[in-house]
Amino acid sequence: MYIRYEVADKIATITLNRPEAANAQNQALLYELDEAWRKAADDPEVAVIILRGEGRHFSAGHDLRDRPEGRPEKVTLEWVYQIEARQFLEFSLRWRNVPKPSIAAVQGRCIAGGLLLCWPCDLIIAADDALFSDPVVAMGIGGVEYHGHTWELGPRKAKEILFTGRAITAEEAEKVGMVNRVVPRADLDAETRALAEQIARMPSFGLRQAKRAVNQTLDVQGFYAAIQAVFDIHQTGHGNALSVSGWPVLVNLDEMKTAIKQAN
Ligand code: ZN
Repeated sequence: MYIRYEVADKIATITLNRPEAANAQNQALLYELDEAWRKAADDPEVAVIILRGEGRHFSAGHDLRDRPEGRPEKVTLEWVYQIEARQFLEFSLRWRNVPKPSIAAVQGRCIAGGLLLCWPCDLIIAADDALFSDPVVAMGIGGVEYHGHTWELGPRKAKEILFTGRAITAEEAEKVGMVNRVVPRADLDAETRALAEQIARMPSFGLRQAKRAVNQTLDVQGFYAAIQAVFDIHQTGHGNALSVSGWPVLVNLDEMKTAIKQAN
């Protein structure tokens, strides 16, 4: 079990519970997480959803050592595309569109795939030690599968963090509007809870309509179409890596770790 799920006082709390691996996402964790989101969406007793991570870090991103079920001997782009369309696009979009307010509480590292968990939430509260990064350009790919970057950071900041792989701090993320507020690490859970309780007192249909108003505005501006298009751009990165090296990413794990360490 990689996910903990609790409901109390109209608030569902979904906890990434793999702290020994900095909440890195293997396939089992992502499916359990999707199940928890569905449960919270369907439960009429749940008004607000909190997503949090156990331990020092929110999420180290995709678990690159995970061997997903059904991986063929020779990895093809068709296989990569199919797996990623489900786990990194369909899941994140479904969570984004759950018709109830959601709040992500983020501490420590939130790397690459970690962004696919917090960006779909409606609000983000960051601990003062939070660091957000997407260093996958170092793997020969133009950013993680779910391209929230440009929407969340604006085009210049998005390019800077992609080009350099560097992490942005909680404070910097707040300044560009990617997070709602920054709180001391020790207060993260209490502050998130207090905000969830405040929102849970509002009428559920009003909340649902307010969320839809904002999300629909983004969709009219091209959010949905852009997310789909950039997912396919991401896949050309995997295709290139496969054609060059036979593997969907370009560098080996140790080289990448060094590059990420240097950038951060
Ligand atoms: Zn990918």
